[in-house]
Amino acid sequence: SSFAHFGFDESLMKSIRRAEYTQPTPIQAQAVPTALAGRDIIGIAKTGSGKTAAFVWPMLVHIMDQRELRTGDGPIGLILAPTRELSLQIYNEAKKFGKVYNINVVCCYGGGSKWEQSKALEQGAEIVVATPGRMIDMVKMKATNLRRVTFLVLDEADRMFHMGFEPQVRSICNHVRPDRQTLLFSATFKKRIERLARDVLTDPVRIVQ
Ligand code: AMP
Repeated sequence: SSFAHFGFDESLMKSIRRAEYTQPTPIQAQAVPTALAGRDIIGIAKTGSGKTAAFVWPMLVHIMDQRELRTGDGPIGLILAPTRELSLQIYNEAKKFGKVYNINVVCCYGGGSKWEQSKALEQGAEIVVATPGRMIDMVKMKATNLRRVTFLVLDEADRMFHMGFEPQVRSICNHVRPDRQTLLFSATFKKRIERLARDVLTDPVRIVQ
């Protein structure tokens, strides 16, 4: 498989070359075309598989298609992740590839300064990467809102549940418009994740790394 099959524009291709990625990883080869086709995904994949770019690239394409159409100030793409460390990794990947389109990315995690994070959100962010509890805090503080979100990613869903974030994850999903596209990634696929998938995904394609 090669990146040419994805149909990305020249600016995104250039930033992929600059990152020195020579070919898509297996999860990227499967998930990217599926996500670009607008489908929901359950991805069973671990860190190291290249799953971050597998959802970041389709999110960037989605935002480029939507940004002119959608007025408002909240994010179009929202990524929920279990920890500060993982959310910062995703943030860096989203910034690296979003830069070519001037897409503004903001990261909000528990333990960081609420004041700084809310100021960053108020500047306007098309992509927000957040831990679930902090995202809810930011919405409650009215630093941002979920009204414009049409592309939602739940990364490492099993870890988010282990950390006790199930109610926050579900609450966020329930407040995002139902006609959104949703991608759910998890290293394991047990009962609770299966139930979440049934509740928040629409006719998902299942991809196993
Ligand atoms: P992830 O599983 O998303 O955490 O990615 C693991 C590492 O692989 C990160 O350092 C990425 O920057 C890198 N990576 C992602 N996709 C590719 C690719 N297609 N070729 C080479 N490296 C990649």
